[in-house]
Amino acid sequence: EAAGLTKHFPVRRRGRARRSIQAVDDVNLTLRRGRVTALVGESGSGKSTVARLLAGLHARTGGDIRLHGDTVNVKHGKAFRAYARRVQMIFQDPFASLNPVHTVRYHLTRALKIHGRAGDDLEQALHELLSRVQLTPPERYVDKFPHELSGGQRQRVAIARALGADPEALLADEPVSMLDVSIRLGVLNLLRELKERMHLAILYITHDIASARYFADETMVMYAGRMVEGGDSETITQRPAHPYTRLLIDSAPDPDHLLPPTQEGHFHVKVPDPAVDDGHFHVKVPRAEAGGEPPSLIDPPSGCRFHPRCPVAMERCETELPPRFDVGDAPGHWAACWLYDGAAR
Ligand code: SF4
Ligand code: MG
Repeated sequence: EAAGLTKHFPVRRRGRARRSIQAVDDVNLTLRRGRVTALVGESGSGKSTVARLLAGLHARTGGDIRLHGDTVNVKHGKAFRAYARRVQMIFQDPFASLNPVHTVRYHLTRALKIHGRAGDDLEQALHELLSRVQLTPPERYVDKFPHELSGGQRQRVAIARALGADPEALLADEPVSMLDVSIRLGVLNLLRELKERMHLAILYITHDIASARYFADETMVMYAGRMVEGGDSETITQRPAHPYTRLLIDSAPDPDHLLPPTQEGHFHVKVPDPAVDDGHFHVKVPRAEAGGEPPSLIDPPSGCRFHPRCPVAMERCETELPPRFDVGDAPGHWAACWLYDGAAR
């Protein structure tokens, strides 16, 4: 569980005041066993930094990380090692994360030994790990070097290595984006099967919101270091509330796969009307105007960080940071956007 998780990286430039890159700001999220949570956003939105913070690869600037209610202290060696075993990371590039001069056997044996799980029958433990990631028969793979395997097989070895720690959670940072399109689904399906069989919590980091709908139970959207929308994946992809989420969906490679066609030139966001019980009104948002680039995180925009790109920005958006508001169309669906501020209307 991350509460108010914040990471600022200091940058020093000669002759100027010390500044920092506000990479992650006030991020709240909860991972649960048996569930996949997707963290979606453009590159540079801070999503990898969130994973690295959760894995303890960066020290946090602020906020809290808790496991079963206990705060994780990155600086306390023994307690931290116990935590790190339970929360394993899978990286984007399986070739870079495996050592090219070592075999599959070496990688998996090392993981089992580090985590004290080598046991009496090492060979059997190795075979079990390889079978779990569907590299069968295991004896065909165990003495191979990374370059003798395909990209998908390498990522399966990286997953097997993570499983060697017998974790409760996997933090998967773009685990299929470097893989050939034709084998992505196979790796995601494997992760889903492992989630069910081993009752794992999975954080699935991606820039591809379409895959989040397919793979994740819950989806959180990140923009410029902050969470902007969250809810169950079906709701987020079918009825996005935040103008940025809508932009992401509009620019997804396969929009038909995601949403029914919108009225030409516009989309509607449904906003709860506090004056009427169960009532809603629609805000018409012009499409294609929300272009532009994500902002610099050294001087992020004031107020809502999306306001310079937002086609429906209001005056207050430039100065006031929107908190999470209930969207009201599905349990747990929230958006950090002033459009949903029922109290203001
Ligand atoms: Fe747009 Fe304002 Fe909502 Fe930000 S808070 S997304 S600027 S309407
Ligand atoms: Mg990244």
